Amino acid sequence: MIHLECRKSVLGFATASKSPCAEPQYSPHSSAGRRRQQEIVRYTMSTVSIESLPQDRLPAASSQPKQQRVVIVGGGFAGIAAAQALRKSDVEIILMDRRNHHIFQPLLYQVATAVLAPSEIATSIRQLEAKQKNLSVVLAEVTGINLRMRTIEAIYPGLGIRKIEFDYLVIATGMRPSYFGHDEFAAHAPGLKSLNDAETIRTKILGAFELAESTEDETERARQMTFVLVGAGPTGVELAASIAHMVSVTLRNNFRRIDPAKSRIVLVDGGDRILPSFAETLSRKVVRRLERLGVEVRTGLKVEKVDEQGVVASGERITSATVLWTAGVTASPVVKMLGTTTDRAGRALIGPFMDIPEAPNVFVAGDATSMTQDGYPVPGVAQAAIQQGRFAGRLIVRRVEGRSDGRPFRYRSRGNMAVVGKNFAILEAGRMRTSGFVTWMVWATLHVLALPLLQNRFRVQIQWIWSYLSGQRSSRLIAEAPRSVEIPKQKSAS
Ligand SMILES: Cc1cc2nc3c(=O)[nH]c(=O)nc-3n(C[C@H](O)[C@H](O)[C@H](O)COP(=O)(O)OP(=O)(O)OC[C@H]3O[C@@H](n4cnc5c(N)ncnc54)[C@H](O)[C@@H]3O)c2cc1C
Repeated sequence: MIHLECRKSVLGFATASKSPCAEPQYSPHSSAGRRRQQEIVRYTMSTVSIESLPQDRLPAASSQPKQQRVVIVGGGFAGIAAAQALRKSDVEIILMDRRNHHIFQPLLYQVATAVLAPSEIATSIRQLEAKQKNLSVVLAEVTGINLRMRTIEAIYPGLGIRKIEFDYLVIATGMRPSYFGHDEFAAHAPGLKSLNDAETIRTKILGAFELAESTEDETERARQMTFVLVGAGPTGVELAASIAHMVSVTLRNNFRRIDPAKSRIVLVDGGDRILPSFAETLSRKVVRRLERLGVEVRTGLKVEKVDEQGVVASGERITSATVLWTAGVTASPVVKMLGTTTDRAGRALIGPFMDIPEAPNVFVAGDATSMTQDGYPVPGVAQAAIQQGRFAGRLIVRRVEGRSDGRPFRYRSRGNMAVVGKNFAILEAGRMRTSGFVTWMVWATLHVLALPLLQNRFRVQIQWIWSYLSGQRSSRLIAEAPRSVEIPKQKSAS
């Protein structure tokens, strides 16, 4: 019971002063005091410290060897894989994330375009890891790392900054959108990385149609019904195709003064072709498919400005009320806190054992890393993140058990896929390149199976079948801005 209640306060659901952990004072020499001290030792062995304790790790009972602590920062694909690889190990694991949920990012674009609800692609990390008894989930944001002292600093919501010791550290904090030195673009062009981003985009798209329906001004109506996506990688392509399907099918007959099918959707990229991570033949097929859906594909255009009127790309103004940023990404700032060498995107340059030269027990996994294999970069995709996280976890097990490190990491690609609206996807695996309806079925099956919990798989399948048959999307909600609470005026006594 003590254990459970203390954990609650650590996560910030109760303030320190009101915490059920606030204990009566015992003399350390009394038997009650000794019993209490033993409880504290047991408690700190399985979770992180609380303010009332002098340190975050008290000495272990003398008869027991010290249990090693593994801190994993990031509950994305790499962090979860690392934690699960340590499932049977005799270590104490702290899995820390600033969000309480794991997001299945490959389907984020479907939340942004109202096909799925946020909870269908996101899962509480605590629920995901409920059965792993050697692991505690902590909701906090890392703000500092001290390699020499082997501590991290993190902000706990409602509690402030805490220091946590580690024996092994896994950094798996992923990437965030990059505006290539033009952070001012962010105010007008949201990226797609979190559930908040997806909901912001959905609100922007659906809100634009409402304004287009209401305005009397034809120029403004055209601006509201123009959507510009900057960056034609898989996310840009998937979003553009999904918006195209929405305007021509889902929104049909929903408005009286506008025809959503007449919307303009422009996919802009500075490169000479879209989907550069796929073979050129597949990229050409996708261009044809997008054009058939009504998307304008504009390559070789460098975006110079993004403002409330739209974008300026290679000198051409494209007027739009909805600009979406699907171009660059940069590593989370946590990587810089390690003081290790990084590439231009801020990713840690790691060796074949995924640890950093400055501290051999500190690993970086997933999108936050830059790694080459056989002269090619390991791609920033979910399967690479999972394999790296699992590798780091297994390597820690070996080191804890005093075994040799074994073989270095090797990425095994199982293929690369992208979906382009209804009934069409592409797949490249080694020399195999396929596209069309069957590939789309494979894409759908693999994505449902890859969702972390059975509840997500059921819900996504049901939504997809409904959407496929009816053309409808069940999350067409425009998020309301928070309202201030109005206090009713009291009647004055007459
Ligand atoms: C829109 C989109 C679509 C994608 N589509 C595909 C696809 O179809 N196929 C594919 O294979 N890959 C796809 N990817 C890429 C794939 O999602 C990533 O490669 C993968 O998520 C990387 O996993 P990760 O664990 O390294 O990072 P993430 O999954 O991003 O997880 C990082 C975690 O770290 C946490 N974190 C960050 N900073 C801190 C901090 N300071 N303190 C505490 N926690 C922190 C974050 O909250 C997050 O939970 C897509 C990505 C996006 C954004």
